[in-house]
Amino acid sequence: MRKITIVGGGQSGLQVALGLLQKGYKVRVVQNRTAEEVEKGKVLSSQCMFGAAVQHERDLGIDFWSDICPPVEGISFTVPHPEQPGAKAIDWVGRLERNAYSVDQRVKIPRWLAEFEKRGGELVIADAGIAELEDYAASDDLVLVASGKGEIGRMFERDAEKSPFDKPQRALALTYVTGMTPRERHSAVCFNLIPGVGEYFVFPALTTSGPCEIMVMEGVPGGPMDCWGDVKTPEEHLAKSKWIVDTFLPWEAARCRDIALTDDNGILAGRFAPTVRQPVATLPSGRKVLGLADAVCLNDPITGQGSNNASKAAAIYLKRILDRQDGAFDGAWMQGTFDAYWDYAQWVVRWTNMMLMPPPPFVLEIMGSAQAFPALSHRIANGFDDPRDFFPWFADPGAAGDYLSQLKAA
Ligand SMILES: Cc1cc2nc3c(=O)[nH]c(=O)nc-3n(C[C@H](O)[C@H](O)[C@H](O)COP(=O)(O)OP(=O)(O)OC[C@H]3O[C@@H](n4cnc5c(N)ncnc54)[C@H](O)[C@@H]3O)c2cc1C
Repeated sequence: MRKITIVGGGQSGLQVALGLLQKGYKVRVVQNRTAEEVEKGKVLSSQCMFGAAVQHERDLGIDFWSDICPPVEGISFTVPHPEQPGAKAIDWVGRLERNAYSVDQRVKIPRWLAEFEKRGGELVIADAGIAELEDYAASDDLVLVASGKGEIGRMFERDAEKSPFDKPQRALALTYVTGMTPRERHSAVCFNLIPGVGEYFVFPALTTSGPCEIMVMEGVPGGPMDCWGDVKTPEEHLAKSKWIVDTFLPWEAARCRDIALTDDNGILAGRFAPTVRQPVATLPSGRKVLGLADAVCLNDPITGQGSNNASKAAAIYLKRILDRQDGAFDGAWMQGTFDAYWDYAQWVVRWTNMMLMPPPPFVLEIMGSAQAFPALSHRIANGFDDPRDFFPWFADPGAAGDYLSQLKAA
């Protein structure tokens, strides 16, 4: 029986692990935090997952939350008016064809760790380093490193060609709250772009204590939303979150009059540089390991794609492993496996990195035109489920012009 070790029991690692167990593989997951530490710890993400990503979980029988998690039914996009305080320059909403869901990873990961052990997996609680990887690679058929933003991922060499930024592009913060007034008509990721300042988006989710809303703040470095350095307590974090909406987004502030933190750990602040790495690393012994998801393809959360990518990468890696049958998991197979994922992920990376830059005029025209053309707002909203659909028209002024002309003619 083939044995596979996965370092990192997060979204991608556990999804592959649970899928392999189902097919009779021996699987070891090495995870540096216990289920209880994850559950009782700080929030990790805002993890809004769209239809295709959730479907991969359903396919494995591990979507335990779609019937209790408040659904995200659309995407709205708003830009405040630059000259008229309190007015909106752009404002539209598109309905999602399939609901999205955000299940707090403090809920999901402990449940999946329990399921993994229930289905016969071997869970090792340890912080794996090179020495441990050597041991696993010597004894097992394949070692995957799904360590997210963990230090061990630095063993994979940064791919400068695929990584246009060498510094963080946003100061990030999360605030999980209760008591927010729901969006009218239907729920949505309410995405607000404040030019030169940053982005604020908010959507319903399921946390450890039940339904909540997650406020996500992305501040341009050095700007007024890059404001978390002197925040010391959960109360100060909540107050700073309110200050942002009060100052820049009065329509969002109106929803926040009665908000309270879900818990003292429902907050996060930090920053990281989006980075794509070489997917295969060679250990001192010459044995190779393969990186998965954020460990080798880390995006800024501005487009909310990380968990979606992790789920899609896991589905591709799982299929590649099963299709390999008794063949060797050698370096060529590893590179081919990442390449199969990169066929998809390159578009997500490109779109996400574009969104971190000041929008060129043709992108502003697209986002503004979506207000007039429901077909366009619908397409942009559903592009979050599969960002390949944004190309070429979201990246090329000529293609954008052609597409907008078609919409006008129709
Ligand atoms: C502020 C913020 C907001 C986000 N919002 C969204 C969103 O709205 N939508 C979305 O899709 N994505 C979002 N993401 C991204 C998403 O959470 C990640 O992309 C996703 O969780 C990555 O999955 P993964 O399996 O690669 O890594 P993770 O889920 O991070 O799992 C990695 C695991 O490996 C463990 N680990 C690390 N090092 C070691 C080691 N040496 N030994 C053993 N274990 C180790 C970690 O403890 C962790 O459990 C957000 C991220 C952030 C930071």
